[in-house]
Order: sequence, then C-alpha cells, then structure tokens
Amino acid sequence: MRINKYLAHAGVASRRKAEELILAGKVTVNNAVMDNLAYQVQAGDRVEVDGVAVYNEEPVYYLLNKPRGVISAVSDDKGRKTVLDLLGAVKERIYPVGRLDWDTSGLLILTNDGEFTNLMTHPRHEIDKVYIAKVEGQANKENLRPLTLGMTIEGKKISPARYEILKQDKAKNSSVVSLTIHEGQNHQVKNMFKAVGLPVQKLSRSQYGTLTLDGLQVGQYRRMTKKEVSQLV
Ligand code: URA
Repeated sequence: MRINKYLAHAGVASRRKAEELILAGKVTVNNAVMDNLAYQVQAGDRVEVDGVAVYNEEPVYYLLNKPRGVISAVSDDKGRKTVLDLLGAVKERIYPVGRLDWDTSGLLILTNDGEFTNLMTHPRHEIDKVYIAKVEGQANKENLRPLTLGMTIEGKKISPARYEILKQDKAKNSSVVSLTIHEGQNHQVKNMFKAVGLPVQKLSRSQYGTLTLDGLQVGQYRRMTKKEVSQLV
C-alpha cells in the first residue's frame, strides 16, 4: 500500500496531510527518513511518525446498538463503561466514528480505519442521520417549523432538517418526533429541540445513511458488510 494511504488508514492524517508529513521529513521507514511519496509499504516495514510507530491492521467495521449509560470513547478516566467494553471480543484496535452522548442510544459505527473516519466525520460528508426524540411538550407544525428552515446554534449554522411527528401524549405532555439531519455537531439534536422549546427527554439514533439497526437488540453488535461500507463513503 502506498505510504500516504497507509498513514491515512492508520488514522494518522488524511492522505494529503500524510504527504505533508512525509515532505516535512517526519516519517521514517525502517529507521530511514522516507521522502518518496510513491513508496509502497511492504509487510514487515516499521513505519514511524515523529518517532512513534504506526500500525496498520486489516480495516474492520462494526455496527453497535449503543445502550444509554455508556460513553462513546475507548477509555474513560472516571472508569465509566465505554462502548469498547461492549465489543470485548473484537481483537482489532477499533474506536467509534463520531459520538453519541452518554444518555443517547442507537446506531454507532466503530472501526480501525482512520481514513474512513476522516471521511465520515468531515463536515462536507452530508449523510442523513435519523434520530428519534421523545420531547417534553406538544410538537406541532408551528413549533417545529424553525427546524426545517435551518438555524444557528452557538454560532454554528445548521442546515434545514426534516421531521415527522410519530406520537403525541397529551396526558404526559410529551411527543415523539423523528428528525433527519446531516451534520454531527455536539448535542446537535438536543440543542435543536431546545431552541424550539421542546427539551429532549430521550434520544436514539435509528439510521445512518442506508444503515439501520434491523436485527440488532440494544447492546448487540455485528460486522458491517463491504457493501454497507462502500454505500457510506
Ligand atoms: N445529537 C445529540 O444531541 N446527542 C447525540 O448523542 C447525537 C446527536
């Protein structure tokens, strides 16, 4: 595999940034500075960036139905349960692609492919993500309209979203709404509903592009197929 692709796959940087690292003399192969951008990494080569070894495993992709109460990180300094605790049997060094909040459940992808992660989390990667939110209050056409027009939250632009009201419970003063968005900003869905006066009580991600959680119970995971991966990138 070409050296910039190797570094990108390992999650060091994008292919273009990896070339910059090579040209800056930061990359060594078998202890010699590598200045050939076309170099093909061989099995057994020791590749280092700034003196730190870079490993490249066969890329793998997993789909997890994340439960609430688990953090989307590979470790936690407070000792809380992480998504990796749920995928204990997986041998590769995987990590989550983006994040779901601690109290959000649903669809989460995990991989060891840094290039895939860069692509999927890049702001230009406009893939539909569908969330099911239980909100406090009576959702209706009027109060949800701002979501469909696009908004600015904490100085960041959010593109127009689509919604569907799935349920209304007058007695409990709550509603269930599905919301389709493109971006992946921190707490985006909660902030969007908060901005229209409907605070989120419960949140779950049900869809990511063409991927759904069909057949996966909460806490279960499975390998993604090649076709599923190629449909996303
Ligand atoms: N939006 C949120 O507010 N939380 C999530 O976990 C994901 C999207």
